Amino acid sequence: MKKLLFLFFFTLLFAKDYYIHIKSFAPLIIKIPSNNVKHFIIKDKDVYKEVFDIKNAITPKFYKKRFGKILLRIAQFNPKVVRIVYSSNKKFNLNYSIQNKTLKITLNNLPKKSKKTPKKTLPAPKKIIVIDPGHGGKDPGGIGYNKIYEKDIVLQVALKLKKILQNQGYKVYLTRSKDKFIDLKERPHFANTKKADLFISLHCNIAYHHKRNIQGLEVYYLSPADSKRALEIAKQENQESLGNLNFKEQMAILTFLNTDKIMLSKTFAFDVKNSIASEIRKFYSLKRAEVRAAPFYVLTGTQMPAILIEMGYLTNPKEAKKLASKKYQKLIAKGIAKGINKFFSTKTKFKIPFSQSHKPSHSR
Ligand SMILES: [Zn+2]
Repeated sequence: MKKLLFLFFFTLLFAKDYYIHIKSFAPLIIKIPSNNVKHFIIKDKDVYKEVFDIKNAITPKFYKKRFGKILLRIAQFNPKVVRIVYSSNKKFNLNYSIQNKTLKITLNNLPKKSKKTPKKTLPAPKKIIVIDPGHGGKDPGGIGYNKIYEKDIVLQVALKLKKILQNQGYKVYLTRSKDKFIDLKERPHFANTKKADLFISLHCNIAYHHKRNIQGLEVYYLSPADSKRALEIAKQENQESLGNLNFKEQMAILTFLNTDKIMLSKTFAFDVKNSIASEIRKFYSLKRAEVRAAPFYVLTGTQMPAILIEMGYLTNPKEAKKLASKKYQKLIAKGIAKGINKFFSTKTKFKIPFSQSHKPSHSR
């Protein structure tokens, strides 16, 4: 991954001609590499978006500005495209022109805040959760103490979690509900097609050289790794298909990192880590519970906040026995559900992440 990062920055360094240059935000005046801009509108029930894709362009930064009820965001959409999005819950009007490699966008009659606050008559839509039990079928995942298979433990916890969440009114989908092999690429794609609000990938850990003393809970969110060990664990979990990625896809992993999504995923990771740890500690000792950043492949393609939970180490005999027990599995599932509730209750301003355009993204 280090090599990749280097290549990525190397590309940026020698690509000055591709940079966009923002002169002002209202109106938006922006110098662009060419006049090659695609404009389109995305409409659905609660979002209206005016989108501009600037081809062969790079933005050094993610920009976010609010104009009344309209939100402007400018970000790297993929390695070659900078995307500008104006979004609001109401339709609005804008003018734009492209001349001499300058894009100018003016917002017309900004919608004023209505005097009466409209009464909420519609119930809040059901939140959609996708649970992803890692591995399955021909891929056992980690094989730990007493030949306990990771694929079995994660499925058992996933089924328990599904039940709890459904009872609380969530809409829940599992990427697999049987001992079945699913390609790593299919998992985030599945979550995207279900328009999930959250994606949770469940795993168990295996220690280096099967060191028996290592134990504990780790919750990961997608980001460049914050430690060597985090990178190692990501490598183990990525093994199955990262090797098949071409350069473009590898680049996409890096450029896809979207500030909004990372921030939300990080908050979500802490909520879940804290709730699992406090559930477990009602009955057992838990020496270590951490949140970490790592480049897990399964998290890169998701358009919603996503975390990966390493529930414990199967190479630690004590922890493996616990992980295989129904009681411990229930505590973990309960903890995750509590973390989800906490996340939604504190995220009153929970917004649709920038990347959630309505175009299929699996091609990336
Ligand atoms: Zn795994």
